[in-house]
Amino acid sequence: MGTENLDHDAVIVGAGFGGMGAGIELRRQGLENLAILEREDDLGGTWHVNHYPGLAVDIASVTYSYSFEPNPHWSRLFAPGAELKKYAEHVADKYDLRRFMEFGVVVERAEWNDDGQFWTVYTADGRSRTARYLVTATGFLSQPHTPDFPGMETFAGKIIHTTAWEDGYDFAGQRAAVIGTGATAVQLIPEIARKAKALTVFQRTPIWVVPKVDFPIPAPVQAVFAKVPLTQKAARLVNTSMLEALMVLGVLHYKQAKPGNRLAVLLAKAHLRAQVRDADTRRRLTPTYDFGCKRPTFSNTYFRVFNQPNVSLQTSSIERVEPDGIVCADGTKVMVDTLVLATGFNLWDTNFPAFEIIGRDGRNLGQWWREGRFQAYEGITVPKMPNFLSLNSPYSYSGLSYFTTIEGQMKHIARLFGELRRRGSETFEVTEAANTRFLDRSAAALDSSVFYAGDCSGSRSYYFNQHGEATLLRPSSTLATLREMDSFPLDDYAFA
Ligand code: NAP
Repeated sequence: MGTENLDHDAVIVGAGFGGMGAGIELRRQGLENLAILEREDDLGGTWHVNHYPGLAVDIASVTYSYSFEPNPHWSRLFAPGAELKKYAEHVADKYDLRRFMEFGVVVERAEWNDDGQFWTVYTADGRSRTARYLVTATGFLSQPHTPDFPGMETFAGKIIHTTAWEDGYDFAGQRAAVIGTGATAVQLIPEIARKAKALTVFQRTPIWVVPKVDFPIPAPVQAVFAKVPLTQKAARLVNTSMLEALMVLGVLHYKQAKPGNRLAVLLAKAHLRAQVRDADTRRRLTPTYDFGCKRPTFSNTYFRVFNQPNVSLQTSSIERVEPDGIVCADGTKVMVDTLVLATGFNLWDTNFPAFEIIGRDGRNLGQWWREGRFQAYEGITVPKMPNFLSLNSPYSYSGLSYFTTIEGQMKHIARLFGELRRRGSETFEVTEAANTRFLDRSAAALDSSVFYAGDCSGSRSYYFNQHGEATLLRPSSTLATLREMDSFPLDDYAFA
């Protein structure tokens, strides 16, 4: 593949696990002139950005890692965030990816040049560079959402978004408030509750929480994992199968397997009953939407904090922020020194895609998705976007561990680039017909999912886009996804 006059074979945007997976696969395919551009000052994506207290994976570590690069040294079943960051560094070193990485480089725009069949990538430092292929690996949850409550700018205390944590920040003696009760808040709230003089949790929508069966992995077990990798592989298989059953039966085939979903609800309700003494607090912590509409989470410590005398749950909506506190719709004023925004991310307005991408015939990807429908063939390629791989796309997320998605996409890349080589071609573009077929099939399959067959009203779930369509998850089992990524019809693409 000749790139004589181009700066790079490929530009990958994002140095998290997705970008690194793409880097590893492209190198296997013989592309050696890569640039991995990262806006942060180090690699690791979400595991570099997030370092709030209590951060840990909520998918068991044997599964939340590359299958081809097992880590026998996870200290717990659910490893703490810092171990994920270390693992990312290990992968970058072992697969020799660091030399391609450039940090603090913010990509603002990319445009396809149809005459030269290449991409030009424009960065905030005023530079531009050309590449035959463009890969976006900018994450699903990477554009922080900061709500704009009236009076927010007048607040005299400290405001911290969970993605901009100040390590060692001390809540001792403080009146703290946390806005949000998503997976991040569930991990963080018990940590703040241990230190703060008073903590008020502002909940708009409750989250389903099930017990977390977590324990340290003793050194002898780690040694066995290191010595006999097959043992860790077996552990991964068991865990992945359990997650798979939860996802496929509980979420994707809700219509056919309602009892499985109901069982999860019973488990979460029993967990709540066992942990929270006050009946009214329990009622307010109980979701009214079906399990799975919104990403559920695991915790043994979250619910308990609501028994503590220094913690209160506020469910009246936030009306305004004043210099010394928050005023709620019911007239209550909560005095606050530190305001923590565990308010999550914006996926559908600012993240898909994370910067402007202009393809063939001037197709503006973000505009096309937002004004039409969110779609991507096999969750990775888009018509009129030649030589473009979008790793974080509509219908791309498969299984529960992000690594399932990444490894499926690596298979897709391998098949696609294998065919390019076989044909002596340099350009690929998915056909409109193949894309439409995949979109129709995915949308139809989702009819059975909890998103449409269940009751998701009032869940305010980020699985739904602004058109009310649940276009994030790929409605197939992990095995089916991996098989398809390995065997999609090659004439779904035009090659040149
Ligand atoms: P999130 O799930 O989107 O939760 C954001 C929270 O902020 C929600 O409770 C939301 O309420 C609330 N919120 C947002 N704007 C608000 C407003 N204007 N007023 C009141 N409340 C507002 O974000 P997250 O907790 O950061 O988690 C995102 C995802 O990251 C998770 O679902 C999970 O996939 C991943 N995650 C994983 C781990 C892990 O594996 N260890 C840990 C953390 C996060 P509404 O629900 O009413 O919108």
